[in-house]
Amino acid sequence: IPLSAGEPPITPIAVCAPATTAEMAETVRICRAHGAPMVPRGGGSGVVGGVLAGADTVVLSTERLAGLRHLSSGDLLATFGAGTNGLEAEELMQAEGLTIGHWPQSIELSTVGGWVATRASGQYSTAYGNIEDIVHSLEAVLADGSVYRSRDTPRAAAGPDLRNLLLGSEGTLGVVTEVTLSLREQPEPGVRQAFHFAEFATGLDAIRATMRAGWRPPVVRL
Ligand SMILES: Cc1cc2nc3c(=O)[nH]c(=O)nc-3n(C[C@H](O)[C@H](O)[C@H](O)COP(=O)(O)OP(=O)(O)OC[C@H]3O[C@@H](n4cnc5c(N)ncnc54)[C@H](O)[C@@H]3O)c2cc1C
Repeated sequence: IPLSAGEPPITPIAVCAPATTAEMAETVRICRAHGAPMVPRGGGSGVVGGVLAGADTVVLSTERLAGLRHLSSGDLLATFGAGTNGLEAEELMQAEGLTIGHWPQSIELSTVGGWVATRASGQYSTAYGNIEDIVHSLEAVLADGSVYRSRDTPRAAAGPDLRNLLLGSEGTLGVVTEVTLSLREQPEPGVRQAFHFAEFATGLDAIRATMRAGWRPPVVRL
């Protein structure tokens, strides 16, 4: 990022790419013991600078925590390593006639763990929800090296939902290592249409009327 802004590059102390949750936990414990700040990194497409690493930091890359780990098409659930590329994850599901339904414009550049850490929103979120609606459960290595695993249920009435602490935490509370996403049946090919409105306000009224009628087009742009 500094390079693209014409500034000198910043070299972190190290870039670690653990291949398992246990390795990630051990790496975090070592960094903590040495007081080294850590910056998790997925696809590097974040837009708020959370992925920027200083010269005193250790980068924790999720690139080797990648791949589909479990698919339950009966339960419509798929578990991915956090470093799985977004488009690869979606294409794997489409091959099964399913979809995650999460289509950020950066789907090719971002990772499943990055989606969680940035509380991402896909272009079809009106139909499928945002990432917080799609995440079923997750696993994360916390700052002390302990491993947190959320309940393996879509929701529970007892106590606060700790998944929400990690959603949007931008890597400040832990490293997400595994994510289980809920799936949908792949829809029939959709219809895309464009309409012309003489004024912005009239177009807005049409969108309001559409939504108030209960229709949920996956994406509407004015
Ligand atoms: C062209 C373009 C289009 C975009 N379109 C959209 C869009 O439509 N919707 C949208 O929501 N965003 C969009 N973004 C922003 C970005 O792609 C998302 O925020 C994405 O979710 C980031 O994922 P990443 O894997 O690239 O994360 P990174 O950039 O690697 O990291 C982002 C932040 O999350 C942390 N992080 C990454 N992985 C983990 C992990 N496993 N555990 C803990 N913390 C982690 C990092 O430390 C950093 O703070 C766009 C960006 C670009 C460049």
